[in-house]
Amino acid sequence: DGRLAVEGLVKTFKSSKGEAEDVVRAVDDVSLSVEPGRLLTLLGPSGCGKTTTLRCVAGLEHPNQGEIAVGERVLFSSSKGVRLPANQRGLGMVFQSYAIWPHMNVRKNVSFPLRARRGKDRLSRKEITERADRALAVVQLDHLATRPATDLSGGQQQRLALARALVMQPPLLLLDEPLSNLDAKLREDMRFELKRLQRDLGVTTVYVTHDQVEALAMSDVIAVMSNGKVEQMGRPTDIYNNPRSRFVADFVGTTNLIAGEVESREGDRYVVTTPQGRLAARSPGDLATGAQVIVSVRPEHIQVAEGEASTSAPGVWNGTIANRAFLGDAVDHLVSVGDFTVRTRCNPSIRFSRDSAVHLTFPSEHCSLLPA
Ligand code: ADP
Ligand code: MG
Repeated sequence: DGRLAVEGLVKTFKSSKGEAEDVVRAVDDVSLSVEPGRLLTLLGPSGCGKTTTLRCVAGLEHPNQGEIAVGERVLFSSSKGVRLPANQRGLGMVFQSYAIWPHMNVRKNVSFPLRARRGKDRLSRKEITERADRALAVVQLDHLATRPATDLSGGQQQRLALARALVMQPPLLLLDEPLSNLDAKLREDMRFELKRLQRDLGVTTVYVTHDQVEALAMSDVIAVMSNGKVEQMGRPTDIYNNPRSRFVADFVGTTNLIAGEVESREGDRYVVTTPQGRLAARSPGDLATGAQVIVSVRPEHIQVAEGEASTSAPGVWNGTIANRAFLGDAVDHLVSVGDFTVRTRCNPSIRFSRDSAVHLTFPSEHCSLLPA
């Protein structure tokens, strides 16, 4: 019942800078859906409209246009004139600055939203304590229930904020960069923990982050956003392996973007001429000879081998090692091909010294053609 559907969402703001007449289309015709129990991530650079989209779902912003529904329940509809207030949407929210109440103990922080209930929803003191402790157990903080909230570490406070959102048993959980205030090591641990929790509880979740590694690790589905629009929506492997635009290829992971022109077609592969040499690549759509394109190829998909190539086939280029960076679990080589630089990533046991002659092999199945 918890399927979230957002259709044609638009939210504009009066621009803070420039002319008074200027408007910012913070959310510009966004449509997306999240299946029950799944985690969808809104991923994109700062200012692309992630928070505004989430706040529209939460009921904290008044959209100009669009529809928002959870299951059969319409939360907002410009065409039907529906606008449910935030406190009637019953959604769980955790924001970047997870405000804990410092003057309350851990349990009271969690039970506060339950104690605020009135009328037929009112709960007995016993029920309130039981439900708070259950939510604390879920995030493994039940043993700290009577401690002052300010005694908790950063990671524990983050889990406390999550328990407070979960205690309402919301049909939908909205998380806006909840890990961004934690240090790197803890953030990585919390990624796994948050994902495990979300899956165990089966709560439909919208997660916001600008961190592509986090998005790839945690999501069932990623919606990559840019300038208020969803650029591409898909599973993490799909977004990574089959980016459909230059923006997505570049923002998610590291990639080489090589400009060229379609020379010919051979079966499901295209041969592309570039200033550095020829490449064979695949394309999701049909392309005409002469079309201007960008080839995207990930550093880890390019093979580096010693010496000059013995073939002039497409996808084999000669180059020179310009630089090398040891990363512990991998080694990156920057390879000069003419005045173009190709980034490659290999197993750390493979090492080439600077200025040595190498040849690169670009497997056609890993070369994606994108519109120029
Ligand atoms: P993100 O969360 O992806 O960083 P936001 O949704 O916060 O992006 O912002 C999207 C755009 O909307 C930005 O250009 C931002 O400056 C603008 N914006 C957001 N909130 C307001 C507001 N209350 N008033 C004016 N402009 C806003
Ligand atoms: Mg934001």
